[in-house]
Amino acid sequence: MPPAKPAAPKKEEAPAAAAPAAASTVAAPAKKAEKGKKEKKHKDEKGVKAMYKVEGDKLSRARPTCERCGPGYFMADHHDRYTCGHCGFTRYKQK
Ligand SMILES: [Zn+2]
Repeated sequence: MPPAKPAAPKKEEAPAAAAPAAASTVAAPAKKAEKGKKEKKHKDEKGVKAMYKVEGDKLSRARPTCERCGPGYFMADHHDRYTCGHCGFTRYKQK
C-alpha cells in the first residue's frame, strides 16, 4: 500500500485557511445588522383585502369605485380626495 500523493491534501489546505479569516471579518458586522429585526408588525393591510370590509356574510366596499372606469376600479383614498389610478379621475371629498 503506497501512500497517496501529497497533492490532494495540499490543495484542500489553501481554501480552508482562507475561509475562517474571511468569515470572521464579515460575520461581525453582519450580526449587528440582523439584530432588532425579529418580526414585522402588521400595519395596515394592503392589496385587494383593504378594499373590502366583511361584516358577517356581507361584503362592503371600503373605497368608492371610479365613475369613468366603472365597478372594479377602486379609487385611492387621499386625505381630501379620491383618485383613480387607471384614468386619473379625481373626486374631492365633501365636507
Ligand atoms: Zn378611472
